[in-house]
Amino acid sequence: MDPAVAHAHQSALRSISRVVTEIATPTPPQQALNAVAEQLRHGNVMVLTGAGVSTESGVPDYRGPNGSLSRHRPMTYQEFLHDPQASHRYWARAFVGWRVMQAAHPNRTHYALVELERAGLLTGVVTQNVDGLHEEAGQRNLIALHGDMQHVVCLSCGYEEARADYDARAATANPTYLQRWAVNKDDVNPDGDVALSEEAVEEFVMPGCVRCGSQRLKPDVVYFGEPVPTYKKDAAYAMVNAADSVLVAGSSLAVMSGFRFVLEAKKTGQARGHHQRWPGTRRRSRRHPVAHPGGPGFRRDPG
Ligand SMILES: [Zn+2]
Repeated sequence: MDPAVAHAHQSALRSISRVVTEIATPTPPQQALNAVAEQLRHGNVMVLTGAGVSTESGVPDYRGPNGSLSRHRPMTYQEFLHDPQASHRYWARAFVGWRVMQAAHPNRTHYALVELERAGLLTGVVTQNVDGLHEEAGQRNLIALHGDMQHVVCLSCGYEEARADYDARAATANPTYLQRWAVNKDDVNPDGDVALSEEAVEEFVMPGCVRCGSQRLKPDVVYFGEPVPTYKKDAAYAMVNAADSVLVAGSSLAVMSGFRFVLEAKKTGQARGHHQRWPGTRRRSRRHPVAHPGGPGFRRDPG
């Protein structure tokens, strides 16, 4: 690797390790509930969400001792750009893992946020997640800071293809692959990456770009080591500036792209609600039955 690329790659690896090791202590449930209720009563809240809001949907979490990062790390942007072997390995793994991601559906947290939006209490939602579940739940004013898994972009010519179309081409090129290399759903990363044996990786036939034939393909998602597009950052700053407070749900803000919005909010003197996760959004916190923000008035379903 070119030294500048190697440097960027190393810096991305450090970000990844921060995600694993820097875990915030969740706000105690009753305290969180009171603070969130007060915030919402006032209205004009911007919500920033992370992986914790999607774990109940079966989307795995990178974090913590049992997080998927402890088993294998995600790709860096530099690897997609400059390391054809790593990219091939990614696409073999993603071919298998994407199915697990497709099976996930929004949970009560996603729907509660839609209800809050309909009640006129939110300026909008900024998410670090790439699973598309806020959108599927019906969130309108939404900025997916890191993109989503529904498109594949060619790094050679810029062509963008629907993920479903890419996947259909991959399935044609690898007709018996899925039967032979089935995986456990717990082995999937939030970006749809799974652990596969070297043998399985080698066997995968990777389709190239429809337009130029290049195999330098990447999900249209912001990877570690890759900047968030300026227009998205600007839109998120505008959203935070229009808000009276920021509520952080399901994120410890270890990744700077989300953290900077909280800094911005703080700079402009807004109140801050920081909850690593909303109690009740993770299976293991079901022992706190109350703690759903908004309380019993909120329906689980949008309809
Ligand atoms: Zn291309």
